[in-house]
Amino acid sequence: MTRGLERFSMNTATLGYQAEITQTVEMIARAGFAGIAPWRRELVGTDVRQIGRLIRDCGLSVSGYCRSTYFPASSRAEWQSNVDDNKKALDEAAELQAACFVLVVGGLPVGSRDLANARQQVEDGISALLETATKLNVPLALEPLHPMYAADRACVNTTEQALDICRKLALGNPLLGVAVDAYHTWWDPKLPEMMERAGDEGRLLACHVNDWLVPTRDMLMDRGMPGDGIIDLSSFCALAEEHQYTGLFELEIFSNELWELDPCEIVNQAKRTCQSL
Ligand code: ZN
Repeated sequence: MTRGLERFSMNTATLGYQAEITQTVEMIARAGFAGIAPWRRELVGTDVRQIGRLIRDCGLSVSGYCRSTYFPASSRAEWQSNVDDNKKALDEAAELQAACFVLVVGGLPVGSRDLANARQQVEDGISALLETATKLNVPLALEPLHPMYAADRACVNTTEQALDICRKLALGNPLLGVAVDAYHTWWDPKLPEMMERAGDEGRLLACHVNDWLVPTRDMLMDRGMPGDGIIDLSSFCALAEEHQYTGLFELEIFSNELWELDPCEIVNQAKRTCQSL
């Protein structure tokens, strides 16, 4: 089975944040992608409402808005400021009419060894955001990250853990769900079961695609273009579709090597790659 570009969205991180957001939007639309997932850092100093309008005028939808400020903090005041910052981001996500606001939740506060406490702070933070998300009608997509990031980027590390949090905090509320990223979840023996559960529970909000390179030379900045690594991405996409995922597959690649290329060239490569998935 092959998918046309109408099933794919471009996460702007893939292009290395090299161009202005307005140029990036136009480049992605011109290539024929159906959606875009912009980052907060690209919208600093811009009129978010106007960018939202530009995106829609170009015929793109917003598959996700990246991403939350980490929740865990060394003090209550700092935690509260992280929550407040995320509430601001939710306003922006609403302006963009984003399909979801992506929650990358953070790891241990500096100097801490208390993983259980960090996880509790994450739950409390999501809980504190739910009311705003519901009021604005912006779904929260909790993204589990590969366990190698538990210390510094996300202490939610499996799809099962993320779904358990959704069930605990938002039973019956579909505005909390999961973002399943192939890079973070491909190794998980429970992935098929958890995709099924996410579908059954109506919580599969986003799917991110990219590849795992062997060897991996950098923990963060060495993801591969689909097809260059060892993840069976056709099966990954088919699994999501089998379990009621009707959203876009978002191409999200952090890569020092890729980012050396001109963004136009990256878009062209990405286009060929997605069409072959
Ligand atoms: Zn992702």
